[in-house]
Amino acid sequence: MNTSPRSRSPDQAPLRWLAWHPNGFLINPSTATPWFSTPPGACGWLPLDICAGRPRLTHDLPAWLALLDPTTAYPNLAPLRQLLSEAPAADLPQLARAQQLGHWWQAEQYCSHCGQATVLHPAELAFTCINQHPLRYPTFNPCVMVLITRGQHCLLARHHRSRAGQFSCLAGFIEAGENAEETVHREVLEEVGLRIDSLRYAASQNWPFASQLMLGFYANYAAGDIQLDTAELQEARWFSAETLREPNLPYLPAKGTLSRRLIDGFVDSCVDGDKPAAL
Ligand SMILES: [Zn+2]
Repeated sequence: MNTSPRSRSPDQAPLRWLAWHPNGFLINPSTATPWFSTPPGACGWLPLDICAGRPRLTHDLPAWLALLDPTTAYPNLAPLRQLLSEAPAADLPQLARAQQLGHWWQAEQYCSHCGQATVLHPAELAFTCINQHPLRYPTFNPCVMVLITRGQHCLLARHHRSRAGQFSCLAGFIEAGENAEETVHREVLEEVGLRIDSLRYAASQNWPFASQLMLGFYANYAAGDIQLDTAELQEARWFSAETLREPNLPYLPAKGTLSRRLIDGFVDSCVDGDKPAAL
C-alpha cells in the first residue's frame, strides 16, 4: 500500500471501507453497496472513526475512507444524494462524514499562506505545510434555519433552487460578526419582511451538501406582512397544521432533514392545542 503524506494508513486492517471520488462513492459490484472489505486502489486514506481508536459515530465497525484518483473515470459511482435515500440509517453519518472529508482532502492540497503542498499532521486530522503555517481542519459553513409559527399556522417558502417545487423553512448563512440569533432575525426580515419574537433553538444537523452545520430554530410571528425577496424566493405562505398533517405531501422536505423535523415538531405540538412547537 502506498503511503501518501496527504493520507494516513490504518494500523490494523479495517473492517469496512468507503471509496470516495468527487463524482460519488464507488459501488461494490458484489454487494451493490458503497462498502468494501478490502480497500480499492486509491490515492490516499483517512479514518472515519477517530476517537482514540474507538468508533466515534453510531456504527460499531471501524471504517476508513479510500480517496480515489479524481482524474480517473469510474463507471460505478453513486452520488451521496442517491445513497442517502437507499442506505441504512446507521450508515448515514459515516457517508456524510466521508463526503466532507473527501471534499476537504481535495480542496486543501496547497497551503493558502505559502502555496506549498500540504501534508497531513502526524497526530491530528488536519493539514499543515513544511513552513508550519496554521493547521487546516475540516471546515463547516454555519447556517441557520427557522420555522416561524403563528397559532396553528407556520410559514414555509419555496426557493428558486428548490428541488421539485419543495416548500421549506427559511434558512441562511451566518455572516461575519453575527451570532446565530442575529442571523435568524436578519434573514427573516430580508427574505419575507416579517418581525419575529420568542426565538428558541431546537436542533442542529450536519449537512454534507457541502459541509454545512445547520442550526434549527422556532420563532413566533410578531409583526408585518409577507414581502417576498424575489431574488431568493418564488413563494412564501402560511400553512395550517391541519394541512401539513395530511400524509405524503409531495412538497415537503424529506423525512430526516432538519427542515422536516421542525415542521413535524410544529404539527405535533398543535395536536393538543397551542403548545409551543418543539422537537
Ligand atoms: Zn504554508
